Amino acid sequence: MLRRVRAQTAAKRFEREDIPMAHDAPQATGPSKLVIRNIGLMLSGALERPILDADTIVAENGKITAIGRFKDVDTSGATTIVDAHGTTVAPGLIDSHVHPVAGDWTPRQNQINWIDSYLHGGVTTMISAGEVHMPGRPRDVVGLKAMAIFAQRAFWTLRPGGVKVHAGAPVIECEMVEDDFKELAAAGVKLLGEVGLGGVKDGPTARKMVGWARKYGIQSTIHTGGPSIPGSGLIDKDVVLEAGTDVIGHINGGHTALPDDQIRCICEGCKAGLELVHNGNERSALFTLRTAREMNELNRVILGTDAPAGSGVQPLGILRMVSLLSSLGDVPAEIAFCFATGNTARMRELDCGLIEIGRSADFVIMDKAQHSPAKTLLDSVQLGDLPGIGMTIIDGIVRTQRSRNTPPATKIPEIVAK
Ligand SMILES: [Zn+2]
Repeated sequence: MLRRVRAQTAAKRFEREDIPMAHDAPQATGPSKLVIRNIGLMLSGALERPILDADTIVAENGKITAIGRFKDVDTSGATTIVDAHGTTVAPGLIDSHVHPVAGDWTPRQNQINWIDSYLHGGVTTMISAGEVHMPGRPRDVVGLKAMAIFAQRAFWTLRPGGVKVHAGAPVIECEMVEDDFKELAAAGVKLLGEVGLGGVKDGPTARKMVGWARKYGIQSTIHTGGPSIPGSGLIDKDVVLEAGTDVIGHINGGHTALPDDQIRCICEGCKAGLELVHNGNERSALFTLRTAREMNELNRVILGTDAPAGSGVQPLGILRMVSLLSSLGDVPAEIAFCFATGNTARMRELDCGLIEIGRSADFVIMDKAQHSPAKTLLDSVQLGDLPGIGMTIIDGIVRTQRSRNTPPATKIPEIVAK
């Protein structure tokens, strides 16, 4: 095996199919066809049309192939049939801001299986904002590049519970040169960790390096606001705007937010993604939401948890953000779900996050929680309740059934044929 790998070219060597996947989540063997029928409400993830008039989804070999009314779509030859029993299907949730380290373990609060717990909160995709909690994290250029490449490989190979963790997000240091970004990109790195968590804390240096990253197809984000833990620093609006990253990481602070006038300046001064995180200032999140709405730019709003963090790990963090923004920010729940799905997928160039033909068949199936006073799932979220999750599906494969973490859903879907 070793010899065969060595004989391949550097580029070829790191393609997924060449890497042994001993610890990988179970993959579909042979052709698969999933049918989800009796869907009571279908949330598309797309702001421009958040609710679809359909009750059936078909996915073949992990990709959505049909959406429509049961009588109109070809459901023959299904390998798995899920009866949704009138519940709500949405795209799997995306957490735009996590800090993974290795496998399904985090040293931040010394927890294991935290990613699997997120899956029980409906999160099917996570994006690393830097593997900054790695004990002994190297800060020299060779070391930080090696760590980023390792993290990208490791999380591409290992998907805890099936969750897609996009990791390998180096934290930039002042000694880096353009060739380092070229090398990282060639090795498969597609993300930068939060600018500001390393040695680069000034606008001009950040801008230069973010430009190099962009030139080679690496997307960037930045730590916005006060220091997160002792030892980190303040990043204010001037640095944020000068750096020019693709995403304004936790614009509501992680945890300490900038003053409202600075948040407004950032919203108005660029077109980057406005990321709202659970481990941030909730009032500032609502202020950012209102500002984005006034600007008619809700398409820029995306959600993360920034976990694991000092406040812990929040398996329901994305659902809690959806509920917070909908109930206190006066946003229809079907729109708030777009912040956690389609908006992020489009901004991050992911093939999931929308119920659309050709996209990954990643879904969360929910219903209003038992004893919620609301009449429907959407009403319950607008009242500030969390929905109950009855099933998660990734790449067309059922990964979990009734969630162990959400309040129990009133109705749950059922696998009726397999
Ligand atoms: Zn941060």
